[in-house]
Amino acid sequence: MSSLDPHNKEEWLALRQQGHRMLDDMFDYLENLRERPVWQPAPDAVRHEFDADMPIEGQDLAVVHDTFMQAILPYAIGNAHPGFMGWVHGAGTPVGMLAEMLAAGLNANVGGRNQVPVLVEQQILHWVRDLFGFPETASGLFVTGTSMANFIAVLVARKTALGAAVRNVGVNQVQQRLVAYTSAGAHGCIAQAMDLSGLGIDALRIIPLNAEFSMDVAKLQTAIAEDLAQGYVPFMLIGTAGSVDVGAIDDLPVLADVAQQHQLWFHIDGAYGALAMLSPGLRPRLQGLERADSVAFDFHKWGQVPYDAGFVIVRDGTQHYETFATPAAYLRREACGMAAGSPWPCDYGPDLSRGFRALKTWFTLQVYGADKIGASIAYTCELAQYLQQLIKAQPQLILAAPVSLNVVCFRYDASDAINAEIVTQLQLAGHVAPSTTTINGKLVIRAALVNHRAAQQDMDALVAGVLKFGAELTGAGV
Ligand SMILES: *Cc1c(COP(=O)(O)O)cnc(C)c1O
Repeated sequence: MSSLDPHNKEEWLALRQQGHRMLDDMFDYLENLRERPVWQPAPDAVRHEFDADMPIEGQDLAVVHDTFMQAILPYAIGNAHPGFMGWVHGAGTPVGMLAEMLAAGLNANVGGRNQVPVLVEQQILHWVRDLFGFPETASGLFVTGTSMANFIAVLVARKTALGAAVRNVGVNQVQQRLVAYTSAGAHGCIAQAMDLSGLGIDALRIIPLNAEFSMDVAKLQTAIAEDLAQGYVPFMLIGTAGSVDVGAIDDLPVLADVAQQHQLWFHIDGAYGALAMLSPGLRPRLQGLERADSVAFDFHKWGQVPYDAGFVIVRDGTQHYETFATPAAYLRREACGMAAGSPWPCDYGPDLSRGFRALKTWFTLQVYGADKIGASIAYTCELAQYLQQLIKAQPQLILAAPVSLNVVCFRYDASDAINAEIVTQLQLAGHVAPSTTTINGKLVIRAALVNHRAAQQDMDALVAGVLKFGAELTGAGV
């Protein structure tokens, strides 16, 4: 017998019991997260366990699970923990975890074909369409994350600008020197997308930021005019809704106007910010989103869906389809039978085999409802305001950027090195874990509040911790 399944009733029963223990361990983990450190470095002995060669003989599932509990679970980055505020990471939910288990059990390949998992993904597209005010002709796709979603958008924009022939001849043959525009606050994956698309990073014009840390539109206009005068072909404008450094939102209606004026593909990187549409209070801040040609965003950040669950939506589904669809004998479509239901998800991106990312997203929205997710998004912004007040009340702390959404950047009044060390000490202490970034040439402490489990006590702990380590490291007050 070569099946990897249990071979009889007794073996199935043993697996079932072990499976229930594993599930309970994860519930225990999630229920008691606060009692654990956010993060801790793995000891050398643990690290060395992962130098072992591929096992030839298998071991009991219980033994392997025990290794997971001892050597893997305690040493993850900790984004599920309420004190995690290091990077823009979602926290996940128990519901998402369970849905992921169902998806793994079903093991559907959601590249296409005539199956309801594809409809689940399409239903989420419809929800996103409605939420963003996109037309029925819009297409969309689950991808790993916004990095991939942005890349797909650049490819669709490139194809729209150059015509379908670019898919055959490549960019080498292209006479037009295409250029795209984004702000200095844009995520690094935008430049990477330009690189991957063959257009090159130099074809991305980085427009400086204004005092609100959003794109300086006057400078954008100047850059476009200069490029036109020099014979370049502006083809794409990429706005940011929720910048990774400070949470700034570009002036989307004005960017939409500029894009319209110059016939540019208007893409928005809304990696985490776009889902602020779920909050009635925040929604007006995203006005203009509905005018984008495409939006990239993640359900795994503010949407709290377990990793990974990125999404790209494209207003003109035909352009999107024509960027990726490739006829192949083994992917032949039929009117009925298993090969019906064309077009398929694989026609809208580079992946053929695809997991059922839609299911954990679908469960999350079905169980919590859009309002509750929206409320948790709004709450992280309230926490950011609360943290801002705490910072302003401390003379040793300096706010480094306006608090637009959920990201708070500040400094302890000391050198860059001291601020970096404060953050390292906080991470090692394990109660709250911020990160650093650079603003106006200075290293700052960054608290990105994305976690639905975060509370005021975590903001209090952050400020107390920064003051304590700051005083110790500068020799003040000790
Ligand atoms: C997180 C983020 C990205 C990258 O998204 P991934 O899901 O990590 O690939 C891009 N842009 C912004 C603004 C982000 O916050």
